[in-house]
Amino acid sequence: MITDSQTLEENFHADADVVIVGSGAGGAPMAYQLAKAGWKVILLEEGRNYTPYSFERKSWEPMRDMYRDSGMTFTLGTPSIPLPMGRALGGTTIINSGTCFRIPEKVFGHWKNEFGLSEMEYKDLMPLFEKAEEKVHVQPAPLEALGANNLLFIEGATKLGIKSKPLNRNIKNCKGAGLCVFGCPENAKQSMEKNFLPAASNLGATIITSARVEKICIKKMWQPG
Ligand code: SF4
Repeated sequence: MITDSQTLEENFHADADVVIVGSGAGGAPMAYQLAKAGWKVILLEEGRNYTPYSFERKSWEPMRDMYRDSGMTFTLGTPSIPLPMGRALGGTTIINSGTCFRIPEKVFGHWKNEFGLSEMEYKDLMPLFEKAEEKVHVQPAPLEALGANNLLFIEGATKLGIKSKPLNRNIKNCKGAGLCVFGCPENAKQSMEKNFLPAASNLGATIITSARVEKICIKKMWQPG
């Protein structure tokens, strides 16, 4: 069930085994996996469900509505890097370019040492990557959607003997309209609301949009002994 909180007529009370905050690339697969394992899942998403997205909207409207802080979010550090974050069902997968790559081995090695993932090996992730990629249709961007500039780039690289290949993206029938960052008007980008979220919902997860989490109250539960 996917419900917008603004349509609720009374306060919502529910018990769950797990509450997930955010419906993007982290929250959506997590909701799916836990619901599949039989857990009672509630997922809360700050933004609205914008799908299918309208072509007619001006570019500032999606920025205002579907980006956290209208897209003015940055990393800390020197230099600071713009890091837009989505605020919509599907999270940032709604407004990113759909580029998908696997966790680099070096990064995994860092996580493994830093967070004590001693029992996990990089090769153990391969079947999991494959499963996730299959679910969101990861494939190289088709040549016909690359545009003249990218085709020229490939031609130049080839002439110089430099290997190049299109990026892997989560797409189905991409028309190359290049509007990914405003929500794909062609429904081609396979963002979370097209795969993991409906699958989680079908497995019984409750998904609530327009539900910004502002406070988490932790009550100490009774413990034996
Ligand atoms: S059709 Fe356009 S907006 Fe949609 S994924 Fe392809 S390039 Fe992006």
